Amino acid sequence: MTAAAQPRVLIIGAGMSGLLMGIRLLQSGNTNFRIFEKAPKAGGTWRENTYPNLACDVFAVAYTYSFEPNPDWNYRFARGDEIQKYFERCERKYGLAPFISYSTAVTEARWEKDHWEILTASGERDRGDVLVSAAGALHHPNYPDIPGLREFAGPCFHTARWDHTVDLRGKRVGVIGTGSTASQVVPGIVDKVAEVHLFQRTPQWVMPTPDRKVSQAERARRHRFPWLLRLQHRLGLFLMEIFSRGVLGNRLLLRYLEAGCRANLRAIRDPELRRKLTPDYPAACKRLVISEDFAAAIQRDNAHLVTERIERIEPGGVRTGDGHLHELDVLVLATGFAPYKLDFEVIGAGGRRLAERMAGSPLMYRTVGVPGFPNYFVLFGPYSPIGNMSIIENSEVQANYVLQCIELIGRGVLRSMNPREDVALALKEDMRRQIRNTVWAGGCNSWYLDGNGEAVVYPFQYAHFRRELRAPLLADFETT
Ligand code: NAP
Repeated sequence: MTAAAQPRVLIIGAGMSGLLMGIRLLQSGNTNFRIFEKAPKAGGTWRENTYPNLACDVFAVAYTYSFEPNPDWNYRFARGDEIQKYFERCERKYGLAPFISYSTAVTEARWEKDHWEILTASGERDRGDVLVSAAGALHHPNYPDIPGLREFAGPCFHTARWDHTVDLRGKRVGVIGTGSTASQVVPGIVDKVAEVHLFQRTPQWVMPTPDRKVSQAERARRHRFPWLLRLQHRLGLFLMEIFSRGVLGNRLLLRYLEAGCRANLRAIRDPELRRKLTPDYPAACKRLVISEDFAAAIQRDNAHLVTERIERIEPGGVRTGDGHLHELDVLVLATGFAPYKLDFEVIGAGGRRLAERMAGSPLMYRTVGVPGFPNYFVLFGPYSPIGNMSIIENSEVQANYVLQCIELIGRGVLRSMNPREDVALALKEDMRRQIRNTVWAGGCNSWYLDGNGEAVVYPFQYAHFRRELRAPLLADFETT
């Protein structure tokens, strides 16, 4: 064990959760930590995603740390670049820079009897009492396994690797995928390109939530009356809790959600296009798409919805099952992410590999721990309430819990805490039973599902989550 009063904490990732963990540590008086960030700057998903029309579909007033409200959002749904600036501002304001090692990729973290050893890509080693993975849930682009993908003659890139050197003006652009990302990209490019061809495998429910610019007067009011902003923050979270009740099984709320999406579909004038865009699974089974402008964009004369199965990609475009070649100049892969994948190896007690523990159906302890991995904590990992709650609020609850564990170590109450496997398995069984009552078990395919086709989401009400993580229950751990 290193410094007793201030256990040394190693944090991987300087996105929303990693910065939060750093801020919480500083607020608790612990300066004995280091954040490893493989990129040259902070921001996580908001640094990596820069595609046209990128915005957050959570009310901006609710998309902040609770202790750092932002009166300056320019839109009801904040744009990607302003969110990135918000996190960079937090990094500066809370003085985190000296604690962050930028451009430093962790390749391996290994538990060595009573501490964690970290190895970086440059061969540097560090050690700490506690390891916090804040590496992000949707970080690794999913490149589709479509024959011929590499043969495409024009520029081809994933939405999370947007190539801004490619001028889309006057081009024929193909977009594969119809998730939240594609539904933002298509309205973002349709005015600029000659044609956009949207390749849809499965239709999505789309909820139109009106966006608008925030007036100068309203921003001034938010500055002048901080209580107003706090109230709006609470209200935004409250609306998400209502949404959460729907996805967790409240049929009335689900019907209401679906009715909103159906009303949006009625705005599609062409019955054939409307039919193609109508899903055959319950609304919110896949992550609900929130978009005010997708319906209008896909009805533009230069927009084409393609529902024929993609057979292969050829140098000149996309060949569909009906034999038609959709000729394209640029191909955009809006095909989502491999969720929860890590770029580093985590090796726990007895040489156990985290990747093996997470393969198929992951085993987590109360969303933050993993049996066999002492003093290892995950923020925003599998089974977190990611499909139903504000991810920032989620990470705050988790970070506060982790902080309490760190403080137990600092006070000398224990040196290491390893979640008991039997406890984690029993909790997992409870979750699996409950998941069957949620909309995620509605028969659709989505990134919420694990390798066995089961949803790895948090199936209980948010109050239950807060209660579970209010304080560590020592009886749930093997401790030294
Ligand atoms: P996604 O929801 O996983 O959607 C991926 C899309 O690609 C789906 O339409 C999928 O079709 C399609 N696809 C995947 N592989 C394919 C293949 N081989 N051939 C044809 N189509 C294929 O990914 P995403 O849109 O990037 O969104 C991921 C998550 O990021 C969202 O659920 C959300 O949590 C988050 N996000 C949030 C915001 C926000 O505003 N807060 C914005 C963007 C993204 P199938 O449906 O048939 O599988």
